[in-house]
Amino acid sequence: MTIARSYHERAQALHRRVPLVDAHADTLDRCLEEGVPFGGEAPALHIDLPRLRQAGVNLQVLSLWVPPDHKGGRAMHRALQMASLFHAAARKEPDARLVTSVYEVTADRPGFCLSFEGAEPLADDPTLLEAFYQLGVRLIALTWNGRNGFADGLTVADRPGGITHVGADLLARMGELGIVLDLAHIAETGFWHALELTKGPVVVSHANARALCDHPRNMTDEQLRAIAARGGVVGACFARSFIGPEPTIDDVVRHIMHMIEVAGLDHVGLGGDFDGVTALPDGLGGVQDLSALTAGLLEQGLAEPDAAKILGGNWLRVFGQVWK
Ligand SMILES: [Zn+2]
Repeated sequence: MTIARSYHERAQALHRRVPLVDAHADTLDRCLEEGVPFGGEAPALHIDLPRLRQAGVNLQVLSLWVPPDHKGGRAMHRALQMASLFHAAARKEPDARLVTSVYEVTADRPGFCLSFEGAEPLADDPTLLEAFYQLGVRLIALTWNGRNGFADGLTVADRPGGITHVGADLLARMGELGIVLDLAHIAETGFWHALELTKGPVVVSHANARALCDHPRNMTDEQLRAIAARGGVVGACFARSFIGPEPTIDDVVRHIMHMIEVAGLDHVGLGGDFDGVTALPDGLGGVQDLSALTAGLLEQGLAEPDAAKILGGNWLRVFGQVWK
């Protein structure tokens, strides 16, 4: 047990020393659903400001996910409600800082940017991207699971298509503004099509390895290598169904180690899906337990500088390359 404790202590010390970045959380949706403000102590949620600070998280991407029955103006309204929840907190709480450049990531407190998990908030009008960019959107997945005007998500059963003309227009605008393309949730046809249509790093904000858990949301080894070839990052995810039966933190560590083996140390990060899933793997109650994951990585023999890449260094490299 002494050894286990020493890994844990090393993990906690590492969290204080290196940048910690998580690329996907649905906390704003939970806040909206439950009628609670974003930020303050909220033990029922997986993350809140005090615990993010305590865990040493320096950048958390907050998703503006909208439910699939929300289309057009209704989707836009819901996304703006979530953006308002965040910006209301940012006005009052020094720790709820909007971060839109990697130079704004600071060692002592959390920062946040916004993302789309499905571009429905644009109500099929890519020109609105400019407004959402101003609100802090810096990472975009064109689709969630279903079909929209931009592309097909992975549950589109009948021969899912690639990127539409409007989707290609959006990709071009994202390139101009410097917004990261996220290929989580897109159908495989669209995954490969998007790689053809774009240049530079692309990412998958939250997914695990298909080789270890055969879930359609997980990445095949071929996809992991393709993201690596483009200089991107895949964020390991805490959704139980993407990990395996009766998953524990050790199983998340196994996924990360496999992704490192296939994609390389520079192309794996964290995209926990905090507050986007109801249950997390055993041993992980929320962001406060993140150091247990780091301890598991160190126990697997990962050197601290390498663990630091997985914990946030890789995300900051990509964000630094793409964000303008
Ligand atoms: Zn998701």
